[in-house]
Amino acid sequence: MEKRIYLSSPHMSNEGYEQKYVKEAFDTNWIAPLGENVNKFEEELANYVGIKNAAALSAGTAAIHMAFKALDIKKGDIVFCSDLTFSATANPIIYQNATPVFIDSEDETWNMDPKALEKAFEKYPNPKAVIVVHLYGTPAKIEEIKEICDKYNVPLVEDAAESLGATYNRKQTGTFGKYGVYSFNGNKIITTSGGGMLVSDDDEKIAKVRFWSTQSREKARHYEHKEIGYNYRMSNIVAGIGRGQLKVLDDRIEQKTDIYNTYKEGFKDIEEIVMQPIPENTRPNHWLSVITLKENSKVKPLDIMEVLDKENIESRPVWKPMHMQPIFKEYDFIKVTDKPVSEDLFERGVCLPSDTKMTKEEQERVINVIKNLFK
Ligand SMILES: *Cc1c(COP(=O)(O)O)cnc(C)c1O
Repeated sequence: MEKRIYLSSPHMSNEGYEQKYVKEAFDTNWIAPLGENVNKFEEELANYVGIKNAAALSAGTAAIHMAFKALDIKKGDIVFCSDLTFSATANPIIYQNATPVFIDSEDETWNMDPKALEKAFEKYPNPKAVIVVHLYGTPAKIEEIKEICDKYNVPLVEDAAESLGATYNRKQTGTFGKYGVYSFNGNKIITTSGGGMLVSDDDEKIAKVRFWSTQSREKARHYEHKEIGYNYRMSNIVAGIGRGQLKVLDDRIEQKTDIYNTYKEGFKDIEEIVMQPIPENTRPNHWLSVITLKENSKVKPLDIMEVLDKENIESRPVWKPMHMQPIFKEYDFIKVTDKPVSEDLFERGVCLPSDTKMTKEEQERVINVIKNLFK
């Protein structure tokens, strides 16, 4: 059996940056709780994306939860949420006992459709917040979405878990809304083994999130609690890995872009295969390269996934939309087309191996295995 080719797996720097920061933490016995690496990772990430402040947390999901708590989302509140995403975008709405309303995608970016968002505001004029995802590292129509949110005076949260480093009109995803969220889970473009970051220009709210995520301990000699706390903070070891990974983020984006372009070139003669589009004025980070098969294609996504699987090559369907998930079926879903765009993308899409450790030869093998199905 050939060596397995992954969708997206951890890729540490060749220079050993991560180990240097982790070693510093070891040498001073500052492996926990907080410390220099946590402070510096927050500062370095905030500088990279161009925002005032950041809180390093145990996961991207925790960061979304803390954004919702900071917005005082609670029972009875409605939150508009991208329909085509990973469930971690929507789960924290439920943690806060609020009610999600899912918003369909458009086909230019695959992300939240501003038209469907407008329609949702007509039906529910007073949602507490909107959370929008930049799927697979491709920016949503974020300026249009932001404009709509501003018009209704509703705060915007960006789930940029998959899109660290991607830009829209040269501005980083995650910095358009009131809060932005990044993930350093094992499969993301950079990873700390697990972790997340909440960013905002609101210093006070970020300080409050640090307080909540370290068990809401009041300033007192004894343990005094006036609020419910969470154990959501990032450890100093994990932050050390993050500092090292941040140094290679630009290289990873370059490599992922190269992978995308190689697929595009490889499939250019196969009329049935369409790459995820690159919208105008955006620079995606190309976390995953994703294709869709045209409706008339005799080869179906399952055929591709099965033949890749036989070759020990990992692939996946596009995220299954939230409105189709059994756990979320009772919630409303707003669309402007007869057939939901999210459902259509789920049926016709395949995520291809986008691992930055994949060699040119390995990627050629992936391309050839797929091309052979069309002969
Ligand atoms: C990975 C991911 C998350 C969750 O991040 P974790 O760090 O794994 O908790 C949230 N939203 C999206 C879109 C993701 O891809």
